[in-house]
Amino acid sequence: MECTDYDTLMPTLLVTHQDCIAHEPGRGHPEAPGRLSAVLDIFREAEFAGLIRLEAPMGRKTDIALVHEPSFVSTVLAAVPATGHAALDADTILSPGSGSAALRAVGAVTAAVDAVVAGTARNGFCAVRPPGHHAEPGHAMGFCLFNSIAIAARHAQTAHGLKRVAIVDFDVHHGNGTQTVVESDPSLFFASSHQYPLYPGTGAAGETGLGNVVNAPLAAGSDGKIFRHAFETRILPALDDFAPEFVLVSAGFDAHRADPLAGLELEEADFAWVTTRLMEAAQRHCGGKLVSVLEGGYDLRALAGSAAAHVTALMGKA
Ligand SMILES: [Zn+2]
Repeated sequence: MECTDYDTLMPTLLVTHQDCIAHEPGRGHPEAPGRLSAVLDIFREAEFAGLIRLEAPMGRKTDIALVHEPSFVSTVLAAVPATGHAALDADTILSPGSGSAALRAVGAVTAAVDAVVAGTARNGFCAVRPPGHHAEPGHAMGFCLFNSIAIAARHAQTAHGLKRVAIVDFDVHHGNGTQTVVESDPSLFFASSHQYPLYPGTGAAGETGLGNVVNAPLAAGSDGKIFRHAFETRILPALDDFAPEFVLVSAGFDAHRADPLAGLELEEADFAWVTTRLMEAAQRHCGGKLVSVLEGGYDLRALAGSAAAHVTALMGKA
């Protein structure tokens, strides 16, 4: 991308919906509505005026069923309470707004894929919640209801005929649900950097699927230098070997040093760095087609600053 003049290129897309703020897991829960408010506040700054903005449509149940069992989709939506809260597990809690939020999160990512394939945006970031990468085909887990990023990968294949779709996940937690979807399907690729051991317990280096899964576990205390080394030596070369036709990114920012749920030591500049490296890979293989979705990130200030660094990079300004 040495000669790329970003001012002459298509803009970056920001997809979100107010419904995603209405999902309320309850007082004291770290996956709080204020996370998304903090992220959206920062995108009101003048430096983000060049973003194209799209209200997320409702996700289609036919798309969700590409990843999840149809009975599970019905079960989740039927469990949404009219008032108060309903728990799917100890830390995955539904409120009256949760069904719409989860459907908007799915709709955001599939709409972003559609826009990037159509060429109306160069790349896109989906500022949504709940997150998705822990959700397994048959059960919700770890704050996650539907696995939006895996659904987007399947949507890219079925709606647009793409043959090879890569998912890269730099959330501090391992994307177990995404790995479950990818590990038996050579048309998909999954790479993850994450603190290990840590919730959910999966993501050892030896978990390689059909050779299409790369796990880069990082010890507690690992900093940006170690994180970058893992990408340079393991994840980026494997991504190049896979030669994706689309790059999807599970963009969690809980590997930030300020995050209360984990113990890695990344800074905003590390998120900008990895974003730019992934954009370069996408440029080498598929005209830069890349869509990312918000996963974790629980210190509001670090989350907003890191999301800003990520999107600044997507805009070609890092
Ligand atoms: Zn996380």
